[in-house]
Amino acid sequence: MQKRRPVRESSKTTPERNGKALDSGEKKKRSERRLMKFEELPRYLKDNEYIHNHYRCEWSLTETFLSAFSWHNETLNIWTHLGGFLIFGWMMVVSCMETTEVGLAGFVNVFSRVTIRWPWPSMAKAVYFSSDHHDSNVTHTSSFLNPQGDVNYETIPKWPWLVFLTGAMTCLICSSMSHLFACHSRRFNLFFWRLDYAGISLMIVCSFFAPIYYAFSCHTNWRLFYLSSISILGLLAIFALLSPALSAPRFRSFRAALFLTMGFSGVIPASHVLYLHKDHPNVVIALVYELAMAVLYATGAGFYVSRIPERWKPGAFDIAGHSHQIFHVFVVLGALAHSVASLLIMDFRRASPSCAF
Ligand SMILES: [Zn+2]
Repeated sequence: MQKRRPVRESSKTTPERNGKALDSGEKKKRSERRLMKFEELPRYLKDNEYIHNHYRCEWSLTETFLSAFSWHNETLNIWTHLGGFLIFGWMMVVSCMETTEVGLAGFVNVFSRVTIRWPWPSMAKAVYFSSDHHDSNVTHTSSFLNPQGDVNYETIPKWPWLVFLTGAMTCLICSSMSHLFACHSRRFNLFFWRLDYAGISLMIVCSFFAPIYYAFSCHTNWRLFYLSSISILGLLAIFALLSPALSAPRFRSFRAALFLTMGFSGVIPASHVLYLHKDHPNVVIALVYELAMAVLYATGAGFYVSRIPERWKPGAFDIAGHSHQIFHVFVVLGALAHSVASLLIMDFRRASPSCAF
């Protein structure tokens, strides 16, 4: 997720922008592996005045890479999303292994059917059971992607779920890499934050695929309409955000509006799904998880925009506890809530692959 937006006009005051070479003393000073104070930074790296210290600035590429393993004010920003990437990567591995029926069969079967007892569908079912909805649609959890052990889960395709996992992993690794490398140079700064924008767009688009694909399996025209609409919107967003012109500060509102439009457009298919399947508890619980996702993302965005708590005590949260780190954690939690919702919708469709309801 983006933290430091490239500030094009402000960089006019940097030595590079003025076409003057950095004098060797200054260059040496910056390339040393030394953490700097906010006021020592070039303007393109100045973003949050409430974080006073522990900045890396224009270190060598090797030193920048190795800084992932040392303490500075981006360490936890890097690792919160790298951690999220590893969680979704693990889900991807387990999901892919479950599709493998030949070759790795022995190991895969043991791994997927015995070792992996994913808690979310079980947790969702616990809620479901507790509300006395004991019908044939909900049975025993037997594996990660096949919580209904007695239904043939091969009857529904798995790729929309994998699309979501891919989007989440891409967004999180782009964010993590951006926080690691954007301090290396102004060129890197511009490149990585644009990559971060594109990653966010990709994750938003990919998040739509699983729930819409499975919920509208029996309404294929609507499915095509919703998925093509969000894909076109997403491609336009990615194209726009990768263009240097639109990464300028004056287009910040445009970018924010683009993300909001993409995210909130989910309300339309969600309402449609509720209208079509309001009697099915899996769908209702899935929409509650989607609501939780929206609340988690919004809470995270609230920290991001308000820069709380470092605003209250500048300099006290430089290394740990500042708003961007909290924002990152909420993003991962939001994506996990969406995973639960998607698994529940898959479960719903798996119970009726032939559109009985
Ligand atoms: Zn971020």
